[in-house]
Amino acid sequence: MTESFTKEDGNTELWHTIFAVGHPDLSKQQEFHAKLPRDPRCRLCNAPFAGLGGLYMRFRGKVASSRNENYCNACDGFLDAFPGGAEVEMSMLFADIRNSTAFAESAGPKAASDRVNRFLDSATKAITDNDGFILAFYGDCIVAVWPPGFSGPDHARMAVKAAREIAGHARARVEAAPVGVGVHKGTVYIGTVQAAKGLFRDVSIFGAEVNVTARLAASAAAGEALASRDILEAAGGTGEMKSYELKGISRPVEAAALG
Ligand SMILES: [Zn+2]
Repeated sequence: MTESFTKEDGNTELWHTIFAVGHPDLSKQQEFHAKLPRDPRCRLCNAPFAGLGGLYMRFRGKVASSRNENYCNACDGFLDAFPGGAEVEMSMLFADIRNSTAFAESAGPKAASDRVNRFLDSATKAITDNDGFILAFYGDCIVAVWPPGFSGPDHARMAVKAAREIAGHARARVEAAPVGVGVHKGTVYIGTVQAAKGLFRDVSIFGAEVNVTARLAASAAAGEALASRDILEAAGGTGEMKSYELKGISRPVEAAALG
């Protein structure tokens, strides 16, 4: 996903437990933290960094890590102590804004920034309301995953629902950004990535199924969400399947536009 980072291996069993099965200690923390206000939160344990919940966390010694504000100090310490990852089957979603370069040129930087922020707000809400886990924002793209260890066995249905909500939001409002969404299920490698000299660790996903998801999002029209056959069947949904030739993917991928 991010080429400037190096994928790390190791601690496979622990990573598999956390993301595929659910680690009992971490699951308890996530559940408890979810009840406390408010965003932004630690991407791993869900600890809030703002609002009353953030204040409570500070009393408990949990704050955003000084090295990586996406994680709390405790989880950042975990990533540092247990670098690695595992292959896990999960649902994933890519959503990105179309023609943002042209829009920024014609509407100006302030309008472009407002539009991206509105997209990120509404997409974040759709993802977190449906128990997804935001992995990355980069540029005007958002990447989310539903690892069974975090989101439970019903992850495909929740990811499809989030995709439908993000696309629906883009269609419903004139001021909304033209967003294309791709949602898919498959086995990916989820694990830590290391920047130069091990200075910074983050969590990322790798593999052909990640590329399928990204390419589905790129193939979706503005205001459209494309769901692969794999995820739609797992979600118990139906749709009119079409075969897509996706750039860089050797097999044709069947997908349907979500209504
Ligand atoms: Zn944490």
